[in-house]
Amino acid sequence: MSTRSGILFLVSGPSGSGKTTLCRKLADEGEARYSTSCTTRQPRPGEVNGRDYHFLSHEAFDEKVAAGEFLEHATVHGNSYGTLLSEVTCHLAAGIDVVMDIDVQGAAQVRRCTDAQICIALVDLFVMPPSEEELRVRLTGRQTDSEEVIALRMKNALAEMEHWPSYQYRLISATREEDYCRFKSLLVAERLRVARIQH
Ligand code: 5GP
Repeated sequence: MSTRSGILFLVSGPSGSGKTTLCRKLADEGEARYSTSCTTRQPRPGEVNGRDYHFLSHEAFDEKVAAGEFLEHATVHGNSYGTLLSEVTCHLAAGIDVVMDIDVQGAAQVRRCTDAQICIALVDLFVMPPSEEELRVRLTGRQTDSEEVIALRMKNALAEMEHWPSYQYRLISATREEDYCRFKSLLVAERLRVARIQH
């Protein structure tokens, strides 16, 4: 018998692409562990500290940066976001797949990482909406954000979408069911890679 090391399933895409829903569903079904990020942004209604994010003060975030606790960190929409190494490495070593929902800057940092465990584990996917019009509809539909926030997210989303060629995989969003089916299929296929199997 042989064992398999965990996959680091890195998912990016603009707000409104549906990537967070896909990552959450995968974790809820027990297919992968969700990497809970740290952020300095304020919680949205319904968000739970420790589940959706580790909500930190700027001081606490900067202390973790200085202590080298992050695999990657970046400023997104004016707030700091980062992935703790402790959310990722021990799980990969234990053969547990980890799904992370991070922006294009963070993805570039993870790709540059020279740690052999991360390099072997990494599978990156860019999720994008089918059209600019659909993106606008989806961003306007989220009632929790102000007009100003929506305008900023739209501008950032269009800039972020230019990065899809840097990813190994791209998923153009269709229906929720279809998206999830293709999303999970990718993970299922990647589990079969011989390079991940420890003889
Ligand atoms: P939101 O504030 O809407 O939850 O997330 C805003 C953006 O931050 C999203 O594009 C999300 O993927 C990204 N993000 C969330 N967590 C992290 C993280 O740990 N690192 C990086 N680089 N981006 C993150």
